[in-house]
Amino acid sequence: MAREIEGDRIVSIDPHDGSRVGETRISTSEDVRAAVERAREAFGAWSELGFEERAEALLSARPALEEASEELGCLAHREMGKPMKDALGEARGVARGLERAVELARKAVEPATEREGRVETTIRRDPLGVVAVVTPWNFPLWMPASLIYPALLTGNTVVHKPSERTPLTGARFTTILAEALPAGVVEQVAGEAPVGRELVEAPVDMVAFVGSQAAGRSIMGACSKSLKRLVLELGGKDPMLVLADADVEEAARFAVQGAFRNSGQVCCAVERIFVERPIAERFLERVVELTRDVQIGPMVDGEQREKVTRQVDEAVGKGARVLAGGTPLTGPGYSYPPTVLTDLDDTMEITSAETFGPVAAVRVVEDEEEALRMANDTEYGLGATVWTSDRERGERLAARVRAGMVGINRSIRGVGDSPWVGARQSGFGFTGSVEGTRHFTQVRTISREIAD
Ligand code: NAD
Repeated sequence: MAREIEGDRIVSIDPHDGSRVGETRISTSEDVRAAVERAREAFGAWSELGFEERAEALLSARPALEEASEELGCLAHREMGKPMKDALGEARGVARGLERAVELARKAVEPATEREGRVETTIRRDPLGVVAVVTPWNFPLWMPASLIYPALLTGNTVVHKPSERTPLTGARFTTILAEALPAGVVEQVAGEAPVGRELVEAPVDMVAFVGSQAAGRSIMGACSKSLKRLVLELGGKDPMLVLADADVEEAARFAVQGAFRNSGQVCCAVERIFVERPIAERFLERVVELTRDVQIGPMVDGEQREKVTRQVDEAVGKGARVLAGGTPLTGPGYSYPPTVLTDLDDTMEITSAETFGPVAAVRVVEDEEEALRMANDTEYGLGATVWTSDRERGERLAARVRAGMVGINRSIRGVGDSPWVGARQSGFGFTGSVEGTRHFTQVRTISREIAD
């Protein structure tokens, strides 16, 4: 485990070597209630500020975030195991990301006016109230930032519960924001799932959640009682379709990067690869070669490593072939090597359940229809990529693959005002973009008669 519970404390354990990083007091029910109450009290004045004043207040956190980027990066590196370079990049990214969030929110809350004859309607985007933000550990700074920034900028107040696997990183980030803002505008609580449950069941107006599908379902159930507004960014099992006319080198490079980045602990990791038979051997060879040079950090903890080990062992027991890795590394910490598997079938858990580990699972298919059928044979729908040198074929498959974000010969990340969006059971609502920012608002119309 990358954490231990000692009485009322979570002790964070470094997954590199099992050393103790620090401890966090678990919030009581009374703490949760009080945090929501403080956020509720702060809501009135905060929501009544003009947008520019709110933006200025939030932007005033930027110097402190920049100054703390080394500290935040170090905490993220030690609590969840990501390489220091990546952790630092994430810490600097959340400081820089403030400005982009402001730009999006400014457009999102801009009222619109419609006129028809003598009637004029203003369409407003008003804040909802108190937003409970519940986040995971895999990007322990990015995920909170992606929900807290739009929530605050659109005039809501926030109570954040970071993951129990990265409580120190989450708390430090939230504290820096809170210190730059009026009291109560950003509150935080700490603990495992039960504290998260208490928070979403408290009298908050919206829940913004990033995490697993199972927790997402439970949260949706809890929110149904008072019809709380909801944004859920959930897990994925992203497919990569590699067609016979693809650039093998480019596709292999993407497969390796997509499957192993952050030790595979990424919601949009490449979890399933379908390659057409004529290039399958060349593609696999190249993937295996590139895998030899991959350097990754440990898994977040023993629990996560066991899940990966169990899925790989089950697949191997049923006939899967291991082309690289495949056994947990011995020694201190929770490392699992970059692993390449093939000869997989539908009965293996690894072909359907989210793995969240460094495994490139490759299946050879006869044609694009088979690739598409297998790619769509999942309840998830976060991202998908299609690799082909035939532009039309790429567009045709991209239109038919059931995912919120599709990349043709590139990653799934969209440019400009593109949202971060999961389809099917990978999400409910979405974030990023002007439209995503509007999920943190209540749309209202006010109509009036106008003089001729
Ligand atoms: P998790 O669902 O176990 O926990 C996420 C957070 O929810 C934690 O803070 C946890 O304490 C809390 N929680 C758990 N159960 C809860 C409940 N019933 N009610 C309220 N709160 C609850 O997920 P995790 O292991 O921290 O993160 C990994 C998951 O997150 C993966 O499935 C991954 O795909 C997903 N994820 C998705 C995205 C995205 O953008 N779609 C991004 C990052 C991670």
